[in-house]
Amino acid sequence: MVDRVIAGVLPRVRAMTAYTPGEQPNGGELVKLNTNENPYPPSPAVAEAVRAACGGDSLRLYPQPASDGVRAAAAEAWHRPLEGVLIGNGSDELLAVLTRACLEPGQTVAWLSPTYSLYHTMAEAVGARVVELPVQRETDHSRALLDEGLASCNPRLIFVCRPNSPWGETVGLDELGRLCRSTDALVVADEAYIDFSHAESALELLDQHQNLVVLRTLSKAFSLAGVRIGIAFASPDLVVELDKLRDSYNVSRLNAAAAVAALQDMDYLRANCDRVMASRQRVIESLRTTGWQPWASDGNFFWLPCPGDDGRAVYSRLADAGVLVRCFDSPQLSGGVRITVGTDEQMDLLVQCLGNFN
Ligand code: PMP
Repeated sequence: MVDRVIAGVLPRVRAMTAYTPGEQPNGGELVKLNTNENPYPPSPAVAEAVRAACGGDSLRLYPQPASDGVRAAAAEAWHRPLEGVLIGNGSDELLAVLTRACLEPGQTVAWLSPTYSLYHTMAEAVGARVVELPVQRETDHSRALLDEGLASCNPRLIFVCRPNSPWGETVGLDELGRLCRSTDALVVADEAYIDFSHAESALELLDQHQNLVVLRTLSKAFSLAGVRIGIAFASPDLVVELDKLRDSYNVSRLNAAAAVAALQDMDYLRANCDRVMASRQRVIESLRTTGWQPWASDGNFFWLPCPGDDGRAVYSRLADAGVLVRCFDSPQLSGGVRITVGTDEQMDLLVQCLGNFN
């Protein structure tokens, strides 16, 4: 019976590897530095707005179908036209929408690797052909984009994560603009971490390139990973098409209330990110004085190459000490760990634990 049921599932889905998210332990005393969450709470306005949204009989009713309140708040926060904004249940939903909108089985999606591994899962789900151009190190990133040319593999969709996870480098706007000009593919600039960077946002390029989509999320800089809000900025014509593929009522009333409150408190966001960026600088400098060689990063995380190229050993030793970081099994990434920037106290503990290695 089970076999008969499973046989109804598409072969390519059965062949897929599920996305492996970072661990989300329940409770416990772990210092959680594995999924690039923000160590600070969201704007105080968020809890107030969520409480207010629970009032009366509002939860009995469906939310706004296209999250118009959130769209308007996002449009205002980033000075973009309302018609060019689409709201998702996290930017993960928007990545799925984009993949389904652009790719039929066998068609090509391309990116520089390593990068956010969910792109691969999304591509597999629709049977797309994946072209991953490996880069060696942070500084190779822009050059590979230019020289090898993501555009030359005839893709219909290109993902550019800027700043990129897990290494923290950022493709420049010049390169990105050139890429947009050199291809008919849709180019998606995934800017989940841009607020932690000194680099300019690709939002600046949107009016020049109809094939550019810029993704933002409230999960990182806005400290709202638990709320699940992603934002796509694109040409209004494209938004009309993408909107057909999102889930109906994809943003709950409570999530929408939280998002609007957060988007209306951009001063809080800036102060929040500045604190994280200062801690990033501090922890990278401290680790360098103790013999480690963490890479510079534009995100709220950094890459730490590990002794003997054994990221898992460092992961395990830190986990034993109650500090959870992220390690990856792919050959390109097995030699290090990705560490989320936490509070200064958490970073002091990390530096202390890593000091015990040497
Ligand atoms: N893009 C990148 C590069 C990410 O690291 C993440 C978070 N894991 C996402 C998108 C997804 O963000 P969200 O929480 O909005 O779905």
